[in-house]
Amino acid sequence: MFDKFNDECGVFGIFGHPEAANLTYLGLYALQHRGQESCGIVSSDGAKLRRHRGMGLVADVFKRDSVFERLPGRSAIGHVRYSTAGGTDIKNCQPIMVDYHRGSIAVAHNGNLVNAAELRTDLEKRGSIFSTVADTEVIIHLLARAQCETLPDRITEALNEVKGAYSLVFLTETRMVAVRDPNGFRPLVLGYLDGAYVVASETCALDLIEAEFIREIEPGEMILVDKTGLTSFHPFAKVKPTPCVFEHIYFARPDSTIFGRQVYEVRKEFGRQLAREHAVEADVVIPIPDSGVPSAIGYAEASGIPFELGLIRNHYVGRTFIEPQQSIRHFGVKIKLNPIREVIAGKRVVVVDDSIVRGTTARKIIKMIRNAGAKEVHVRISSPPTSYPCYYGIDTPTRKELISSSHSVEEINRYITSDTLGYLTIEGMLKAASRMSDECSFCDACFSGNYPIKFPRMATDQPELF
Ligand code: SF4
Repeated sequence: MFDKFNDECGVFGIFGHPEAANLTYLGLYALQHRGQESCGIVSSDGAKLRRHRGMGLVADVFKRDSVFERLPGRSAIGHVRYSTAGGTDIKNCQPIMVDYHRGSIAVAHNGNLVNAAELRTDLEKRGSIFSTVADTEVIIHLLARAQCETLPDRITEALNEVKGAYSLVFLTETRMVAVRDPNGFRPLVLGYLDGAYVVASETCALDLIEAEFIREIEPGEMILVDKTGLTSFHPFAKVKPTPCVFEHIYFARPDSTIFGRQVYEVRKEFGRQLAREHAVEADVVIPIPDSGVPSAIGYAEASGIPFELGLIRNHYVGRTFIEPQQSIRHFGVKIKLNPIREVIAGKRVVVVDDSIVRGTTARKIIKMIRNAGAKEVHVRISSPPTSYPCYYGIDTPTRKELISSSHSVEEINRYITSDTLGYLTIEGMLKAASRMSDECSFCDACFSGNYPIKFPRMATDQPELF
């Protein structure tokens, strides 16, 4: 809703439960924060796949009971989507479902492939006809051409061609397969409910349906679930995993556990570390709700400055809000946030948020806080400056739109009109997220420019496709 990076997708799957489609619907509800543009469910009754999908929120696309009557069976997969790789169009909604010479298959994908365009050109030259612009369809075409005998081998053969980020869930008439790319950019967890295996982007989806959390699906792991149970494979060449640190900063829900850590706790630790790195004399710490709340609590805790809710967010303003063109006044950010004057007036205020992308929203919020009577406004950001775009499944502006790519912290401070501005350091962020070891480190490319998977066009400028 605000000036943020946007997550692109959430996936869910369940195998062997009489209420498979209904539980998938609930799982997608819990994952709605990962994508609000479209959603869909594919179910299997053991003989046939059926699909319902549409543009909009889960509650809107699945608002009639009759929809579930058309999704029978004991297994289902689902998807919520926020698009960039692939336009805003119903035909790009997932799960993608196709019939091919070996039967039917559906797939739900979270992530982005960095070599999708090259693979697509190559496949088209060899006769493939694409019906969507989503890079996920590339995987389906590679799968249809794969020569191996078994489904896991065919999926491995197809995925050995692709580079990038993927947490995938496949469904055939009789099997479910979940795969996480060797770098493990996006989260994917495994759960269990009443004899059925469940996979989901985040544990908050397991919590909602009261499934037991078993473990995370490991980077490079493939899980096959069929009537004989669950089999795990590690079919890819091993690389050092690089899960996305931004999942901890902003994308994942704070009540989820991902990459071995509880997100809420990590966000509070970001705030504590931020207080250690950028102390300031102040009277009150306030978050930009909702995403800045845990870090602000951590900042207040470590600094000893009282925490207050100084801004209240209107939760009913959707992404589709359009500023009235003929309005007598520009309402802008006031539609979404309103200050509590009594908390702010006459105070030296520390404002905590998780990121600044373009800086335009931060500038408006600071103006609003000053208008509410703040004596000083000190902005503290619980991540380092975001200077580089993401190519691994997150919607980011182009590099020139990212204020940190071309402006120093002092210049940004002047632009957003804060008294002082402090960002968490990369070292502080990684320390707080505690995931540095020889075996595994976070992807921090949008802060450092160190992309764990390179691709040809990166040397020039940022490809608009991603
Ligand atoms: S570039 Fe940033 S947002 Fe993208 S995967 Fe890496 S850390 Fe996450």
